[in-house]
Amino acid sequence: MRKFNQVLNYSKEERLITVQTGITWRKIIKLIDADNLSVSVMQSYASFTVGGSLSVNVHGRYRNPLISTVEDIKIIVANGTVIQASPFKHSELFYGAIGGYGGLGVITEVTLKLSENFKMERVSIPLQLNQYVDFFMKNLRDDPNVIMHNALLYPDKYSEVRVVAHLKTFKPLTIVHRLRSKKRGISMNRFLTSAMTRLPGRLEIRRQLLDPVRFSKGIVLHRNYEATSETADVEPLFEDTTFILQEYFVPLTKFQEFVLGMKSVLLRYKVDVMNVSIRQSRPDPGSILAWATQEVFAFVVYYQQERNQQTQEQDRVWTRELIDVVLSCGGKFYLPYQIHATERQFHEAYPRAVEFFELKNQIDPEYKFLCSSVVRSAVANDTEELRETCCCIPKLISVEFETHVRKNLQTIGGNTFR
Ligand SMILES: Cc1cc2nc3c(=O)[nH]c(=O)nc-3n(C[C@H](O)[C@H](O)[C@H](O)COP(=O)(O)OP(=O)(O)OC[C@H]3O[C@@H](n4cnc5c(N)ncnc54)[C@H](O)[C@@H]3O)c2cc1C
Repeated sequence: MRKFNQVLNYSKEERLITVQTGITWRKIIKLIDADNLSVSVMQSYASFTVGGSLSVNVHGRYRNPLISTVEDIKIIVANGTVIQASPFKHSELFYGAIGGYGGLGVITEVTLKLSENFKMERVSIPLQLNQYVDFFMKNLRDDPNVIMHNALLYPDKYSEVRVVAHLKTFKPLTIVHRLRSKKRGISMNRFLTSAMTRLPGRLEIRRQLLDPVRFSKGIVLHRNYEATSETADVEPLFEDTTFILQEYFVPLTKFQEFVLGMKSVLLRYKVDVMNVSIRQSRPDPGSILAWATQEVFAFVVYYQQERNQQTQEQDRVWTRELIDVVLSCGGKFYLPYQIHATERQFHEAYPRAVEFFELKNQIDPEYKFLCSSVVRSAVANDTEELRETCCCIPKLISVEFETHVRKNLQTIGGNTFR
């Protein structure tokens, strides 16, 4: 899809842009930066496609799910029809396809609401864990001047956090570049992140030494500069280990309870956690597979793991325990990452999945949009594999259907595939 990446319509006055979904956030930002506009919600890195982001309904440090910034979409469904869907027209498809992991069709176009590319001042303050929620409620939650925020929760003690907020400002810039450059080769950031993973005592060094120094500088920068980080910066350098993300969404009132439960699981299984980032998200306006059915804290757990079968097996065990912790707090786990959840856990977190599959049965009765023939026969036979399948929506469109979609797109959208 990455070559299906054109801007179809753009109005700086209305702050709206219509794009083909193979486009990356970086390409959009490069264009709209000239008018001092910015993407309203995206994930932490600009190298992802808009289609991939819509299909999981991403969020970042911007406090809302991506769907809240979408005017409408065009989607090709299994019989090849192109349907325009919005909250007002074919709304079931709109709320099903965004966050629907490609299970209902291929989203080909989207119109997104844009925001101003504000100048932001980064401010930071260390807190004890038990001070955080109070601080958040009083200073961050409802303040319109807060453009982005998160808190770093320090492993292995999980008793201290560092709040990092980006506030609207009129102060002079300290970083004058409007966008981050796309680096070639190994960036300093990537080198340091990987090198740090081999340093004994690295967690304490970071908490006590590196972060206090790094965040002592008040910096002023453009929102687009902060938005244009690249995933290449966080790829591991060493081949024997990999970095893995997981994410859990927790109702605001369950903050402490979840942290204690999470800490217990992560320490018991000696998970090599490098960072936990806490974010806020307001409720989702109605996606069927919403991960924020109410206002939540999102806990992004970033850990290091050896690449072998045994650690992967162990991952499955502790991840299921952690999912039970989040479910007991009335929360949810995020679906884009490794698929470890059981069928029970999936349906408990996503009770409207039944509705999602009913919709799928109507518009894609042959299950063209699930990964493989194994899945299709599992669906037909309702076997054990189906249980895994239900947690497996993120898997890709089947090869033959991709060909079918390409053919349709060529006739509908012009000769955009090469
Ligand atoms: C380092 C890293 C950091 C991340 N940070 C965040 C974060 O801050 N916040 C967050 O929310 N997520 C985050 N994620 C998850 C990421 O946003 C999702 O995995 C996202 O789907 C990746 O987009 P992609 O362009 O790579 O999509 P792909 O991996 O190519 O596709 C993902 C899924 O989307 C489907 N899909 C792709 N295009 C379309 C389309 N046009 N129509 C329908 N379905 C489609 C695919 O079939 C697949 O199921 C992060 C992931 C990584 C690896």
